[in-house]
Amino acid sequence: MERIVDAAIVGAGVAGLSAALFLGRAAQATVVFDGGPTRIESVEEVREHLGFDGLPPQELLSRARAEVQKYGVEIKRQRVTSVTPRADGLFEVYHGHSVTMARTVVLATGLIDKLPPLSGLPKAWGRDLRVCPCFDGYEVRGKRFLVFGVPKRLLHMASWVWMWSRDVTVVSEHAFTDVDLYRLRLLEIEVIADEVTGLVHGGERLEALMTRKGKSIACDAAWIAADMVATSEVAASLCEVDEMGLARVDSAGRTSRPGIFAVGNAADPAAHLAHASAAGTNVGPHVVMYLLEKEIERRMANQENTGSPDISQRVS
Ligand SMILES: Cc1cc2nc3c(=O)[nH]c(=O)nc-3n(C[C@H](O)[C@H](O)[C@H](O)COP(=O)(O)OP(=O)(O)OC[C@H]3O[C@@H](n4cnc5c(N)ncnc54)[C@H](O)[C@@H]3O)c2cc1C
Repeated sequence: MERIVDAAIVGAGVAGLSAALFLGRAAQATVVFDGGPTRIESVEEVREHLGFDGLPPQELLSRARAEVQKYGVEIKRQRVTSVTPRADGLFEVYHGHSVTMARTVVLATGLIDKLPPLSGLPKAWGRDLRVCPCFDGYEVRGKRFLVFGVPKRLLHMASWVWMWSRDVTVVSEHAFTDVDLYRLRLLEIEVIADEVTGLVHGGERLEALMTRKGKSIACDAAWIAADMVATSEVAASLCEVDEMGLARVDSAGRTSRPGIFAVGNAADPAAHLAHASAAGTNVGPHVVMYLLEKEIERRMANQENTGSPDISQRVS
């Protein structure tokens, strides 16, 4: 007989593993599909996560994996390629050359930062090229900041990082509105009308940004306002998604399709580790409630087939 699990969790970052911890401890048969590195693994140390400040992310994740395995959760180091809903309410979860049947699926697939193909960028990613000052602004507070990236997120990024340093310069050829420029001027943020073409390192550290006009602009930290997208089409094939392809969820982590849940960056691009972890914990009881209701429905249907019980006699 084919194996059916109560919950298939797609993604083994903190969101997926937190959901797994809850479901394992709720004695539900749970499998986690671990498709590779998580978003946090580009950094050397975790920040802004109470109790884990300064911890290497690999250590945080290996502790988390060991914790969930204590409660019978199986971790499969495989990527899920697709999930197919069946008429009987189960989901076929395809991975490698296998398929696992699941009563519920929790999408914890994270997101992808869409990075431009700039020279020197891979070396700086997660170190001197930063995405949010909440994570590592403190470490470079007061230093020379350069900000570049997609126009729709650039102004927010420039003014946000300004709270960590008064030395902020934007590099962009975008035609900002007068209002936008006025707001930047109020904060004394300069705009250099040029495009970044590369990142220049002196030894291990970032020293400057190169531009299309051939300038080298010195900096201590660079901030990129990047687009973010879903890691795959799996969510879009199952439920309503937003313009980034991330699942739309309610406050319980439920998507538009019953039995499919989504947590962490797979549903909320602004989630930090603490939020993603909390979302995983939060979804746990809702998955269990769903499983409970399905079981009650199944038993009711069985009884209808075998003749209706007289409930009044049993509750008296
Ligand atoms: C440069 C950088 C620095 C950051 N620093 C911090 C920080 O210091 N503190 C902080 O709180 N936050 C930080 N963050 C944010 C943090 O990385 C995210 O909040 C966190 O990783 C979200 O967790 P998650 O579990 O939702 O997603 P992820 O951690 O990205 O995990 C998703 C997992 O799902 C896997 N996956 C995707 N698709 C599939 C599939 N089809 N099958 C199987 N597996 C799949 C992925 O490989 C990945 O392992 C940082 C982010 C960046 C980019």
